[in-house]
Amino acid sequence: MAERPLVAGNWKMNLLSGEASALAGELRRALEAEPETAGAVEVVVCPAFTLLAAVGAALRGSAVLALGAQDAWHQDRGAFTGEVSPPMLLDAGCRYVVLGHSERRRHQGESDGLINLKLLAALRHGLRPILCVGETLEEREAGRAEEVAATQLRRCLEGVDGGAADQVAVAYEPVWAIGTGRAASPETAAAMHALLRGELRRRFGPAADQVRVVYGGSVTPDNAGQFMARPEVDGALVGGASLSAGAFMAIVRAARVKRG
Ligand code: PEP
Repeated sequence: MAERPLVAGNWKMNLLSGEASALAGELRRALEAEPETAGAVEVVVCPAFTLLAAVGAALRGSAVLALGAQDAWHQDRGAFTGEVSPPMLLDAGCRYVVLGHSERRRHQGESDGLINLKLLAALRHGLRPILCVGETLEEREAGRAEEVAATQLRRCLEGVDGGAADQVAVAYEPVWAIGTGRAASPETAAAMHALLRGELRRRFGPAADQVRVVYGGSVTPDNAGQFMARPEVDGALVGGASLSAGAFMAIVRAARVKRG
Protein backbone atom coordinates (compact mmCIF):
# COMPACT_ATOMS: atom_id res chain seq x y z
CA MET A 1 0.00 0.00 0.00
CA ALA A 2 1.56 3.26 -1.16
CA GLU A 3 -0.28 5.61 1.11
CA ARG A 4 -1.49 5.88 4.65
CA PRO A 5 -4.67 4.01 5.56
CA LEU A 6 -7.83 5.99 4.97
CA VAL A 7 -10.64 6.42 7.49
CA ALA A 8 -13.57 8.42 6.16
CA GLY A 9 -16.73 9.41 8.01
CA ASN A 10 -19.94 9.49 5.99
CA TRP A 11 -22.26 11.77 7.96
CA LYS A 12 -25.14 11.10 5.53
CA MET A 13 -28.20 13.34 5.96
CA ASN A 14 -27.46 14.23 9.59
CA LEU A 15 -26.54 17.30 11.65
CA LEU A 16 -27.23 21.01 11.34
CA SER A 17 -24.44 23.53 10.85
CA GLY A 18 -23.78 24.23 14.54
CA GLU A 19 -23.58 20.52 15.37
CA ALA A 20 -21.45 19.80 12.32
CA SER A 21 -18.89 22.53 13.09
CA ALA A 22 -18.74 21.39 16.71
CA LEU A 23 -18.11 17.76 15.68
CA ALA A 24 -15.48 18.77 13.12
CA GLY A 25 -13.77 21.04 15.68
CA GLU A 26 -13.77 18.26 18.27
CA LEU A 27 -12.23 15.80 15.81
CA ARG A 28 -9.64 18.31 14.69
CA ARG A 29 -8.56 19.01 18.26
CA ALA A 30 -8.45 15.29 19.10
CA LEU A 31 -6.24 14.56 16.08
CA GLU A 32 -3.98 17.55 16.73
CA ALA A 33 -3.51 16.27 20.29
CA GLU A 34 -2.33 12.90 18.86
CA PRO A 35 0.21 13.73 16.16
CA GLU A 36 1.30 10.09 15.85
CA THR A 37 -2.24 9.01 15.05
CA ALA A 38 -2.84 11.94 12.72
CA GLY A 39 0.45 11.31 10.92
CA ALA A 40 -0.30 7.63 10.41
CA VAL A 41 -3.88 7.81 9.10
CA GLU A 42 -5.58 9.94 6.44
CA VAL A 43 -8.82 11.09 8.05
CA VAL A 44 -11.74 12.55 6.10
CA VAL A 45 -15.24 13.71 7.03
CA CYS A 46 -18.03 13.85 4.45
CA PRO A 47 -20.91 16.10 5.55
CA ALA A 48 -24.04 16.94 3.57
CA PHE A 49 -23.66 19.68 0.91
CA THR A 50 -25.29 22.38 3.06
CA LEU A 51 -22.74 21.77 5.82
CA LEU A 52 -19.61 21.96 3.67
CA ALA A 53 -19.09 25.69 4.23
CA ALA A 54 -19.40 25.46 8.03
CA VAL A 55 -17.26 22.32 8.30
CA GLY A 56 -14.77 23.71 5.76
CA ALA A 57 -14.37 26.78 7.98
CA ALA A 58 -13.82 24.59 11.06
CA LEU A 59 -11.13 22.62 9.19
CA ARG A 60 -9.43 25.51 7.37
CA GLY A 61 -5.65 25.07 7.35
CA SER A 62 -5.90 21.65 8.97
CA ALA A 63 -3.20 19.12 8.19
CA VAL A 64 -4.97 16.37 10.14
CA LEU A 65 -8.51 16.24 8.81
CA ALA A 66 -9.71 16.58 5.20
CA LEU A 67 -13.13 17.47 3.84
CA GLY A 68 -15.12 15.28 1.47
CA ALA A 69 -18.58 15.34 -0.10
CA GLN A 70 -21.12 12.54 -0.42
CA ASP A 71 -21.73 12.88 -4.15
CA ALA A 72 -20.91 15.04 -7.19
CA TRP A 73 -22.44 15.60 -10.59
CA HIS A 74 -20.36 14.98 -13.71
CA GLN A 75 -20.69 18.31 -15.49
CA ASP A 76 -19.01 21.51 -14.35
CA ARG A 77 -22.00 23.87 -14.53
CA GLY A 78 -25.33 24.43 -16.20
CA ALA A 79 -28.96 23.39 -16.07
CA PHE A 80 -28.73 20.52 -13.56
CA THR A 81 -31.12 21.55 -10.83
CA GLY A 82 -30.20 20.22 -7.42
CA GLU A 83 -26.77 18.97 -8.44
CA VAL A 84 -23.33 20.05 -7.25
CA SER A 85 -20.24 19.90 -9.49
CA PRO A 86 -16.62 18.97 -8.76
CA PRO A 87 -15.44 22.60 -9.17
CA MET A 88 -18.09 23.66 -6.60
CA LEU A 89 -16.85 21.01 -4.19
CA LEU A 90 -13.24 22.08 -4.64
CA ASP A 91 -14.34 25.67 -4.08
CA ALA A 92 -15.92 24.55 -0.78
CA GLY A 93 -12.61 22.99 0.29
CA CYS A 94 -13.30 19.32 -0.55
CA ARG A 95 -10.49 16.97 -1.49
CA TYR A 96 -12.54 13.77 -1.53
CA VAL A 97 -15.94 12.67 -2.79
CA VAL A 98 -17.89 9.49 -2.03
CA LEU A 99 -19.37 8.07 -5.25
CA GLY A 100 -21.71 5.16 -5.87
CA HIS A 101 -22.88 4.75 -2.28
CA SER A 102 -25.48 1.97 -2.13
CA GLU A 103 -28.04 4.38 -0.67
CA ARG A 104 -27.74 6.47 -3.85
CA ARG A 105 -27.81 3.40 -6.06
CA ARG A 106 -31.00 2.34 -4.27
CA HIS A 107 -32.90 5.59 -3.62
CA GLN A 108 -31.70 7.63 -6.60
CA GLY A 109 -31.36 4.71 -8.99
CA GLU A 110 -27.72 5.45 -9.79
CA SER A 111 -26.23 3.10 -12.35
CA ASP A 112 -22.62 2.06 -12.77
CA GLY A 113 -22.57 4.11 -15.99
CA LEU A 114 -23.59 7.31 -14.20
CA ILE A 115 -21.15 6.66 -11.36
CA ASN A 116 -18.41 6.14 -13.96
CA LEU A 117 -19.12 9.57 -15.47
CA LYS A 118 -19.02 11.14 -12.01
CA LEU A 119 -15.77 9.40 -11.16
CA LEU A 120 -14.10 10.53 -14.39
CA ALA A 121 -15.27 14.11 -13.74
CA ALA A 122 -13.99 14.04 -10.16
CA LEU A 123 -10.56 12.82 -11.29
CA ARG A 124 -10.42 15.40 -14.07
CA HIS A 125 -10.71 18.08 -11.41
CA GLY A 126 -8.32 16.55 -8.89
CA LEU A 127 -11.05 15.46 -6.49
CA ARG A 128 -10.29 12.04 -5.00
CA PRO A 129 -13.15 9.56 -5.37
CA ILE A 130 -14.05 6.98 -2.72
CA LEU A 131 -15.90 4.52 -4.93
CA CYS A 132 -18.41 2.27 -3.13
CA VAL A 133 -19.20 -1.23 -4.36
CA GLY A 134 -20.99 -4.12 -2.68
CA GLU A 135 -23.67 -6.73 -2.99
CA THR A 136 -27.15 -6.99 -1.47
CA LEU A 137 -28.14 -9.84 0.83
CA GLU A 138 -30.12 -11.50 -1.96
CA GLU A 139 -27.10 -11.38 -4.25
CA ARG A 140 -24.85 -12.87 -1.54
CA GLU A 141 -27.34 -15.61 -0.78
CA ALA A 142 -27.53 -16.41 -4.47
CA GLY A 143 -23.75 -16.86 -4.51
CA ARG A 144 -23.26 -13.76 -6.67
CA ALA A 145 -21.45 -11.43 -4.22
CA GLU A 146 -18.06 -11.57 -5.94
CA GLU A 147 -19.46 -11.22 -9.44
CA VAL A 148 -21.64 -8.24 -8.41
CA ALA A 149 -18.89 -6.30 -6.63
CA ALA A 150 -16.28 -7.02 -9.32
CA THR A 151 -18.66 -5.96 -12.10
CA GLN A 152 -19.53 -2.72 -10.30
CA LEU A 153 -15.83 -1.99 -9.87
CA ARG A 154 -15.02 -2.72 -13.50
CA ARG A 155 -17.85 -0.62 -14.88
CA CYS A 156 -17.32 2.33 -12.55
CA LEU A 157 -13.59 2.46 -13.39
CA GLU A 158 -14.07 2.28 -17.17
CA GLY A 159 -11.66 4.70 -18.87
CA VAL A 160 -9.50 5.34 -15.79
CA ASP A 161 -5.82 4.59 -16.36
CA GLY A 162 -3.03 3.58 -14.01
CA GLY A 163 -1.75 7.16 -13.76
CA ALA A 164 -4.81 8.01 -11.66
CA ALA A 165 -4.67 4.92 -9.44
CA ASP A 166 -3.15 6.72 -6.48
CA GLN A 167 -6.09 9.15 -6.49
CA VAL A 168 -8.73 6.45 -6.20
CA ALA A 169 -10.01 4.66 -3.09
CA VAL A 170 -12.49 1.79 -3.21
CA ALA A 171 -14.89 1.03 -0.36
CA TYR A 172 -16.23 -2.52 -0.17
CA GLU A 173 -19.60 -1.98 1.44
CA PRO A 174 -21.88 -5.01 1.54
CA VAL A 175 -25.37 -3.49 1.47
CA TRP A 176 -26.63 -5.88 4.16
CA ALA A 177 -23.96 -4.59 6.57
CA ILE A 178 -24.67 -0.87 6.21
CA GLY A 179 -26.45 0.64 9.19
CA THR A 180 -27.61 -2.79 10.39
CA GLY A 181 -25.15 -3.48 13.19
CA ARG A 182 -24.33 -6.67 11.29
CA ALA A 183 -20.82 -6.14 9.98
CA ALA A 184 -19.23 -8.58 7.56
CA SER A 185 -16.74 -10.89 9.24
CA PRO A 186 -13.14 -9.75 8.80
CA GLU A 187 -12.57 -12.94 6.77
CA THR A 188 -15.45 -12.16 4.39
CA ALA A 189 -14.18 -8.60 3.97
CA ALA A 190 -10.58 -9.72 3.43
CA ALA A 191 -11.61 -12.26 0.78
CA MET A 192 -13.61 -9.65 -1.12
CA HIS A 193 -10.81 -7.10 -0.82
CA ALA A 194 -8.37 -9.62 -2.31
CA LEU A 195 -10.74 -10.21 -5.21
CA LEU A 196 -11.19 -6.46 -5.79
CA ARG A 197 -7.41 -6.00 -5.65
CA GLY A 198 -7.13 -8.60 -8.41
CA GLU A 199 -9.62 -6.63 -10.52
CA LEU A 200 -7.66 -3.44 -9.86
CA ARG A 201 -4.45 -5.15 -10.99
CA ARG A 202 -6.10 -6.20 -14.23
CA ARG A 203 -7.07 -2.57 -14.84
CA PHE A 204 -4.10 -0.66 -13.48
CA GLY A 205 -1.20 -3.13 -13.47
CA PRO A 206 1.35 -2.56 -10.69
CA ALA A 207 -0.17 0.89 -9.97
CA ALA A 208 -3.16 -0.96 -8.47
CA ASP A 209 -1.19 -1.32 -5.26
CA GLN A 210 -1.63 2.43 -4.73
CA VAL A 211 -5.41 2.14 -4.51
CA ARG A 212 -6.70 1.94 -0.96
CA VAL A 213 -9.44 -0.66 -0.56
CA VAL A 214 -11.34 0.14 2.64
CA TYR A 215 -14.18 -1.72 4.35
CA GLY A 216 -17.54 -0.15 5.24
CA GLY A 217 -20.58 -1.58 6.99
CA SER A 218 -21.29 -1.26 10.73
CA VAL A 219 -17.68 -0.52 11.67
CA THR A 220 -17.48 0.36 15.37
CA PRO A 221 -14.72 0.87 17.93
CA ASP A 222 -15.34 -2.75 18.99
CA ASN A 223 -14.75 -4.40 15.62
CA ALA A 224 -12.43 -1.89 13.88
CA GLY A 225 -9.26 -3.54 15.20
CA GLN A 226 -10.23 -6.89 13.64
CA PHE A 227 -10.70 -5.31 10.20
CA MET A 228 -7.51 -3.27 10.42
CA ALA A 229 -5.52 -6.36 11.40
CA ARG A 230 -6.20 -7.81 7.94
CA PRO A 231 -3.50 -6.81 5.43
CA GLU A 232 -6.15 -6.67 2.67
CA VAL A 233 -8.05 -3.87 4.47
CA ASP A 234 -6.59 -0.38 3.99
CA GLY A 235 -8.98 1.54 6.23
CA ALA A 236 -12.69 2.12 6.75
CA LEU A 237 -15.69 4.06 5.51
CA VAL A 238 -17.77 4.72 8.61
CA GLY A 239 -21.40 5.83 8.77
CA GLY A 240 -23.19 5.78 12.13
CA ALA A 241 -20.08 5.68 14.32
CA SER A 242 -18.62 8.74 12.57
CA LEU A 243 -21.25 10.95 14.23
CA SER A 244 -19.55 10.51 17.60
CA ALA A 245 -16.08 12.07 17.93
CA GLY A 246 -15.10 9.48 20.54
CA ALA A 247 -16.21 6.48 18.49
CA PHE A 248 -14.72 7.82 15.25
CA MET A 249 -11.40 8.60 16.94
CA ALA A 250 -11.28 5.06 18.34
CA ILE A 251 -11.68 3.71 14.79
CA VAL A 252 -8.97 6.07 13.51
CA ARG A 253 -6.66 4.85 16.29
CA ALA A 254 -7.36 1.25 15.28
CA ALA A 255 -6.13 2.09 11.76
CA ARG A 256 -2.74 3.07 13.15
CA VAL A 257 -1.73 -0.61 13.25
CA LYS A 258 -1.38 -0.35 9.48
CA ARG A 259 1.67 1.82 10.03
CA GLY A 260 3.19 -0.41 12.73
C1 PEP B 1 -21.93 3.92 5.17
O1 PEP B 1 -22.93 4.60 5.12
O2 PEP B 1 -21.09 4.01 4.27
C2 PEP B 1 -21.76 3.00 6.29
C3 PEP B 1 -20.78 2.14 6.22
O3 PEP B 1 -22.66 3.10 7.33
P1 PEP B 1 -22.58 2.35 8.74
O4 PEP B 1 -21.15 2.48 9.25
O5 PEP B 1 -23.56 3.07 9.62
O6 PEP B 1 -22.94 0.92 8.51
